[in-house]
Amino acid sequence: MKPTIVLVGRPNVGKSTLFNRLTRSRDALVADQPGLTRDRHYGIGRMGDRDYLVVDTAGFDPVAKDGIMHEMARQAEQAIAEADVLLFLVDGRAGLTPHDEQIATRLRRADRPVFLVVNKGEGMNRAMAGAEFHALGLGDPLVISAAHGDGVRPLLDEIFDTLPPEGPEDEATDHGPRVAIVGRPNVGKSTLINTLLGEERLIAFDMPGTTRDAITVPFERNGKQYALIDTAGLRRRGKVFEAVEKFSVIKTLKAVEEANVVVLVLDASQDISDQDAHIAGFVLDAGRALVVAINKWDTVDEYRRERLKDALAHKLHFLGFARTHYISALKSQGIGGLLRSVDGAYAAAMAKLSTPRLTRTLQEAVTKQAPPRSGGFRPKMRYAHQGGSNPPVIVIHGTGLDKVPDSYTRYLSRTFMDAFRLQGTPLRIQFRSTS
Ligand code: GDP
Ligand code: GDP
Repeated sequence: MKPTIVLVGRPNVGKSTLFNRLTRSRDALVADQPGLTRDRHYGIGRMGDRDYLVVDTAGFDPVAKDGIMHEMARQAEQAIAEADVLLFLVDGRAGLTPHDEQIATRLRRADRPVFLVVNKGEGMNRAMAGAEFHALGLGDPLVISAAHGDGVRPLLDEIFDTLPPEGPEDEATDHGPRVAIVGRPNVGKSTLINTLLGEERLIAFDMPGTTRDAITVPFERNGKQYALIDTAGLRRRGKVFEAVEKFSVIKTLKAVEEANVVVLVLDASQDISDQDAHIAGFVLDAGRALVVAINKWDTVDEYRRERLKDALAHKLHFLGFARTHYISALKSQGIGGLLRSVDGAYAAAMAKLSTPRLTRTLQEAVTKQAPPRSGGFRPKMRYAHQGGSNPPVIVIHGTGLDKVPDSYTRYLSRTFMDAFRLQGTPLRIQFRSTS
């Protein structure tokens, strides 16, 4: 489970600057997806070989009690409750303020590690910059500069030192694909889960106690096994499951990271929203195989159906690699087809790609269309091998490969996708230049 790092602090201390530094995308190709708008509050990050989730509570003022700020306060409280680690940012140039003290009072009650981080410390004496913040009673301040990057890596080292080590990976093969069903509130996730977990299909599910980690619920359908990743604290009441928790972006992100295949549920009776696009963006960032389920298809007429298909192609065009299903979770329509696409996407995400076939496909692609010259030199591609699964990674070896433009990388990606029939999963291409 990747740890969740939540940034807290009054406005203007540098939370969003630190957020951006911590979440600079793990994959340049994904970052360049045209049309993909990112959620500026929730992100996936990697530094060195460490993966983590970051939440910026910017605009979520944890001390606001009422009015328009109330919903933001609620979201900050939810983030604080779901954090593994809290980073409390203060401004080393502005010094200690009463607002900092109010936030500190709240954070001293949080039952999880809090790191006091003094930002904007570039060019300042560390001991001096931190001195006055000792008064907050949150331990020794760590001085950083989010804008320049100073002290950020040592901060992450300290954070990871306090976290329990990651447990062993669940064996995916035991239960078939691990499936995460995600989507914004009210699109029909719980209804779909109940349709999938209909009593006779549920294998054996011990009700877990309270746990901060996602749990998986095994089920069987058409003789195949699946494991559903719970995002909302499912509880069983009689024959049906119900979500005991409110929608949580953090749990959604964690489930996406844990999954082999994500089912993104959209509501046919509603327009595609920014929140839908943001969730889709997380799936893309995480590189997960994806199936799109447009739910409540029973509620819409022909005109609306056509409009929706257009909107999908327009607003979520970057999900073109995924299969789309029109379903009714309530009436149990379209579920078999949906699961067949889950199977297909899982097979694609886990596919074993042989080096000779990859290399042959690469050479054919280059013969058909050579990579463009750059400064009188043409990148040379020699061979390819598979560097990973879920998502598949194809590593291409050669010379001058740092000059390959993104458009050409996308061309190669499409070629591999077609040749190996990798429908449903994103594909990552990495270049290794010798000399
Ligand atoms: P937020 O409101 O807490 O998210 O703060 P922002 O990230 O928007 O930053 C507020 C202001 O502080 C911006 O003008 C940033 O450029 C500036 N800032 C952020 N980090 C640093 C830093 O490390 N050093 C300096 N000097 N300025 C910074
Ligand atoms: P969640 O918040 O995403 O878990 O959404 P729920 O499963 O709680 O569903 C929200 C509402 O949509 C409930 O009233 C459901 O009965 C309704 N709903 C879910 N799926 C369908 C569907 O396929 N057709 C129709 N007509 N209503 C649905």
